[in-house]
Order: sequence, then structure tokens, then C-alpha cells
Amino acid sequence: MTDLAERYQTIKAIIESASKSFNRPLLLAVSKVQPIKKMEFLHEFGINDFGESYLQEALIKIEHFKNKPINWHFIGPIQSNKTRLIAENFDWVHSVCSVKVAKRLSAQRPESMPSLNICLQVNIDNESTKAGKLPEEVSLFFDEIKALPNLSIRGLMCLPKKRENIVDTCESFNRLAKLKNSLCDKMDTLSMGMSSDLEYAISEGSTIVRVGTALFGTRGDIVPSEFKVDGLNNNGY
Ligand SMILES: *Cc1c(COP(=O)(O)O)cnc(C)c1O
Repeated sequence: MTDLAERYQTIKAIIESASKSFNRPLLLAVSKVQPIKKMEFLHEFGINDFGESYLQEALIKIEHFKNKPINWHFIGPIQSNKTRLIAENFDWVHSVCSVKVAKRLSAQRPESMPSLNICLQVNIDNESTKAGKLPEEVSLFFDEIKALPNLSIRGLMCLPKKRENIVDTCESFNRLAKLKNSLCDKMDTLSMGMSSDLEYAISEGSTIVRVGTALFGTRGDIVPSEFKVDGLNNNGY
């Protein structure tokens, strides 16, 4: 696990350095298709926030860590038949992009739990392959769901287009930041920046960076045996 420790130090140093000039973001460790052993080490190093994309895999991990003070973030695509388990088991959902899903998450959030923190996913570069509301649709979407009782709309999330030039990615991050500011002062979250571009996202105002491979190492195509659950393929979904 020395590689893991080194990668963690590297990511911490990147965040540290960027945070001298900009706000310090939360480091969300994206643990999808990564083994529990590595998550245990990272938790011991001080990571308390994990991001998962595949519900079945996530539920196994949440059960495993049930006595630990961990915040669970759902960051993957959401089918409406999965909303109940997401509402019952997660602290954050970064990938809300339909009114139907938002209504179900609010209705299914147990009363005994605090409001579910959500981010609206924005298809910031208008890509046909990506989920999310188009930038011009976000204001109406926000208005349609803002009164839902058991959700706390914390901000916006994006997965920008892969580009050669990092300057273009920065421009996408900057548009997401402006969009958030145009909506509502109460939103405090910009979920943007991943392994390859976190320092640039921080310079554009990111408050949560979602880092997977740069922290854990590459995601294998073979799911560790602990995730072999009926109905899952080798990618864990
Ligand atoms: C997998 C994933 C990440 C992490 O990607 P890396 O490039 O491994 O850091 C971040 N955000 C979302 C929504 C993801 O699905």
C-alpha cells in the first residue's frame, strides 16, 4: 500500500499548493470499482468522503463501513427504480438531472435523516453522450425542484468535455461557476475537477474535487471478488 500512500500525498500536495491562492476544496475519493482494502487505508489517512457510481457495489461498501463516520456521495447515472436505496443510504447525490428523480429522492428520503444534499448535473459542453441539464435549462430545473422538502440543493456538478488544451477545460469550469452564481447565493458547492484537472478546477472555484484513479490507481476491469454480486457484470454494474 505504499503506492497508495504516495498517491495520497501527491494529491494532498496538489490541493495544498492550489489552496494557497484559492479556496480549499473537499477531496472526494472516487472509489467506484476499487477494493475495500484501499478505502480502509485511505480512511485511516483521514479521508471521510467516498464517491460511488454503481448502487449495488456501493451498498456493500456502505454496509462494510457502517460504524465509521463516512459521508457517501452518489455520482453516477440514476435510474428511477434506484432512487429509494440512494435516498436511504447516501449523504450526497451529485448527479441529479431530472425533476422525476429529484421528486422521488425527496419523497423517499427517510424523515429521520437530514436533508439529502444534491448537486444538479450540468452538461456544460453540450455533449450528446453526457447526462445533465444544458446550461440554459438549469434555471428552470432549479425552480421546479427548489421547494422539495427533503433535498438541500447545494450546487452544480459537471464533467467537462475531454480536450487537448487545459485552457478550454478551465473555460468550461468557469462557465459552471458563473452559472451557479447566477442562480442562487445560497448554493455553496461546485463539484468539478477529477484526476487530470483538479488543480485547474480549484483555480476556477471548485469546492469538491472528485478524484479516482490519481488516488487509487487504475480501475481494473475485473471487479474484486468481494463485489461479485448476482446480477453484476465484471465492471460492477
Ligand atoms: C469516475 C468518476 C470520477 C473520477 O474520475 P478519475 O478520472 O478516475 O479521477 C469523477 N466524477 C465522476 C462523475 C466519475 O464517474
